[in-house]
Amino acid sequence: MRAVVLHGGRDLRVEPREAARLEPGRVRVRFRSGGICGSDLHYFMHGRTGDFVVTEPLILGHEVAGEIVEIAGEAPELHAGDRVAVNPSRPCRVCPRCREGRENICENVFFMGSASRTPHMQGGFADLVDVAPAQCFVVPSAVPFEHAALAEPLAVCLHAAARAGELAGRRVLVTGAGPIGLLIVLACRWHGAGSISVTDVADAPLARAAELGPDRLLNVTDRDALARDVAENGAYDVAFEASGNPAALASAIEAVRRGAIVVQVGNLPGGLVPTPANRIMAREIDLRGSMRFGTEFAQAVDLIVRGEIDVAPLITARMPLDQAPEAFELASDRSRSVKVILTA
Ligand code: ZN
Repeated sequence: MRAVVLHGGRDLRVEPREAARLEPGRVRVRFRSGGICGSDLHYFMHGRTGDFVVTEPLILGHEVAGEIVEIAGEAPELHAGDRVAVNPSRPCRVCPRCREGRENICENVFFMGSASRTPHMQGGFADLVDVAPAQCFVVPSAVPFEHAALAEPLAVCLHAAARAGELAGRRVLVTGAGPIGLLIVLACRWHGAGSISVTDVADAPLARAAELGPDRLLNVTDRDALARDVAENGAYDVAFEASGNPAALASAIEAVRRGAIVVQVGNLPGGLVPTPANRIMAREIDLRGSMRFGTEFAQAVDLIVRGEIDVAPLITARMPLDQAPEAFELASDRSRSVKVILTA
């Protein structure tokens, strides 16, 4: 089988790999579609994402959908031939965080395609992917594999929305018009947000965001654009930082009202990030982290299957697994790409 293996910054190779015998209690999925994520791109460009550093060959990929080809052991609800969205997260279900229902911050989580632990946890950009039955979410044949693959980033955004508390009627700011920012727009709209503004430093992603119908788009290369917007239209109730840019986090903290909630979803650079911390204190702003997702994966699959959230507008290109290095280059170019999909 083929696998998309990262050996270091800018060193991504499509390599042949021996398919091992399927371990008992595992399900083998044939890869059909995979979304290239911002964190995959960070790994690709810099050999790291945030504080997670690649120190050994790593198969990338955690937004994956495919077809079950083999089941080793008991999985009565699954069958060979089933089309599945793969949940890349396998929490331990016994640690204190898991037991209190926060399996997204499990202390022993196995997460596909991540260097957060060593040995690294290998990912899903490979012809065959072995997972636990609980990671398989069956989707009807009418749902394209590429939509099923995007259940993962949608789950990230549904979790971020859950971290923000009540959204109905709220004035919402989203900093960053990449795939996560755009899916947060869709998640907030689904939750009944009153108005949604999106910021970015580039026109192409903002133009893409415009297609999702947010109330306001702000190009913040003009550093005063957000302050002017707040002066004219009022401060925000909730902000989602989805760009990973420290300046965006600072601007979000400055654009919200007293007692607001700011959710950090973007992967900021490793190390210390300057933050207007006195403002957090004096205005009692809740700055909340949002890490991956828990039960929101099932919710994301459900919303996609029922057509309540349409992820199709995010997809800007499809390329075969063999051309993964080229696909990663394309995905890195924000003037041309939102979500690039790898196909079998
Ligand atoms: Zn756990």
